[in-house]
Amino acid sequence: MLKRKYAILVVDMLNDFVTGALKCDRGLAIVPKTAELLRGARERGIPVIFCNDAHLPGIDHELKLWGDHAIAGTKGAKVIPELEVCASDYIVTKRRYSGFFRTDLDLLLKELGVDTVVMAGLHAHMCVRHTAADAYQLGYDVVVIKDATDSFTQELYESALVYFKDTYGAEVTDTESFLALTK
Ligand code: ZN
Repeated sequence: MLKRKYAILVVDMLNDFVTGALKCDRGLAIVPKTAELLRGARERGIPVIFCNDAHLPGIDHELKLWGDHAIAGTKGAKVIPELEVCASDYIVTKRRYSGFFRTDLDLLLKELGVDTVVMAGLHAHMCVRHTAADAYQLGYDVVVIKDATDSFTQELYESALVYFKDTYGAEVTDTESFLALTK
């Protein structure tokens, strides 16, 4: 089998999404598995890329719908402390749902030689999905780690998993299986 070159994309695991302005208990619940995924990825030399909202207050279109969240430079826009960003990790800031929209994520993935993005973070049906959509459209294969992503509700989460498979041909797996596969 062709050896894949993975990168983990961790979407919006920020204070405001987990415990702050848009806090979500289901988001809090995926933190231990996400931390395990990131530790395993770093041990295997798989790049970890945080795709982080960093909004401009009073300007960004999306804030009209969601209210202020993850304002650039604030505590709310920082990765939650439990995930401990390492020196070898990358951070891409974004102002829209997708980690690719007007960012240099595609360039970064190209420089790293990545062919398959491994999706984690919040929310499965929204920013993770939009990021996966652009990844797919740019020619990347998509893997989704189902115990390292979630949504506001079970229904939104489950419909997102179906959408990943049906629309992007994504492989939906879990942390343990992914780490066993890449050992
Ligand atoms: Zn946002």
